[in-house]
Amino acid sequence: MIDEKLEPIFDDVVRRNPGEVEFHQAVREVLDSLGPVIAKNPDYAEQKIIQRICEPERQIIFRVPWSDDNGEVHINRGMRVEFNSALGPYKGGLRFHPSVNLGIVKFLGFEQIFKNALTSLPIGGGKGGADFDPKGRSDDEIMRFCQSFMLELHRHLGERTDVPAGDTGVGVREIGWLFGQYKRITNRYESGVLTGKGVEWGGALVRNEATGYGLVFFLEEMLASAGKTLDGRTVVVSGSGNVAVHAIEKAQQHGALVVACSDSSGFVHDPAGLQLDVLKDVKLSRRKRISVYADEVGSATFVERGNIWTLLCDVALPCATQNELTRRDAELLARNGCIAVAEGANMPCTPDAIQMFESAGVAFGPGKAANAGGVATSALEMQQNASRDSWTFEHTERRLAEIMVSIHRLCHERSEQYGTPGNLVHGANIAGFERVARAMSALGLV
Ligand code: GLU
Repeated sequence: MIDEKLEPIFDDVVRRNPGEVEFHQAVREVLDSLGPVIAKNPDYAEQKIIQRICEPERQIIFRVPWSDDNGEVHINRGMRVEFNSALGPYKGGLRFHPSVNLGIVKFLGFEQIFKNALTSLPIGGGKGGADFDPKGRSDDEIMRFCQSFMLELHRHLGERTDVPAGDTGVGVREIGWLFGQYKRITNRYESGVLTGKGVEWGGALVRNEATGYGLVFFLEEMLASAGKTLDGRTVVVSGSGNVAVHAIEKAQQHGALVVACSDSSGFVHDPAGLQLDVLKDVKLSRRKRISVYADEVGSATFVERGNIWTLLCDVALPCATQNELTRRDAELLARNGCIAVAEGANMPCTPDAIQMFESAGVAFGPGKAANAGGVATSALEMQQNASRDSWTFEHTERRLAEIMVSIHRLCHERSEQYGTPGNLVHGANIAGFERVARAMSALGLV
């Protein structure tokens, strides 16, 4: 529940951003946690820190024209929301998906502010993307789209200004095309302007794996605080993109049996445990539907448009998309004995699903903490670019693990300090907010 003193702030956000329901949801979730922080720091209220955080510093919306392989012209809408730069340059991914609109980009950008703050690294919050659907498009078409997108976006970027990375629909291949176009337009090899680059051309080892790996490091901390471990547990992961696949990889390395994953067409259930090499080949290399995994692995079955949360598991890792896990799913998971849920995607659980987990005693790790490993490793990539250095896999993974442990500790400590011990949603919102608010307060009314 939002504290009554903060309610008018939320009402104002709704009034000024009509129809942007995901953005409202993300704001509500953070404001829910901030009542006691504002009561303790009346300065923040006076300086209208929350109202300022809820208003992006800058929003850029632009036309992206491109032509397909048959010469037909298409127009998409590109956008970049530069939300908050109190802690560093705007930082956050680009999403290419037909569902992208300003409300979605604002919810993601808003989350990113707190997520980035939790890493304790010097990065502000931003997000961007386009309502472009890469599905079914040829490599050439996607490259032309990336080039057209960057032709406008480049003027707003810079390694000290705004540093995008990937998100849904944007991986190392697209970052390559975006970076190539940026380099050509500016005539600068400015590696630090994008992260998630290939390791031969300025990228960092572990960045590709980082969100999924970090999710499992965070999950281990959640379990450890209840005296448990991941070893021997049954895990279900939704999605089968970069985050899901690397979460599966790390969970398996930690002794878990991962029995299912999904894509928008349905899920595969493999009680023998997913075969990672086949999964990577089908989804990441060949970019096929997940049903192909079941065609190739005898122990697996494919359930078309099935609900993956009906499966029995100890741990659920939603790694697909926003609001994919509802209250009914949460009820089912809790009833079936699930002990922990950690969000690999951004806001995949609906607010009432989270409430359900809390009341059923299922440990819950919110995305802005649990999936912060990706952006944290982006910040490590920026460090390496700035110093023209490249670190080993082992060193970078150790840094990632340390960061995830420290995020968990921070969230846990704040949850205790503010009277909701173990509630990592409150802990993450409070810890992230405190860091941004302190910086904004110090920088004056800007
Ligand atoms: N898109 C990722 C996220 O949601 C990573 C962003 C980045 O590395 O800048 O955090």
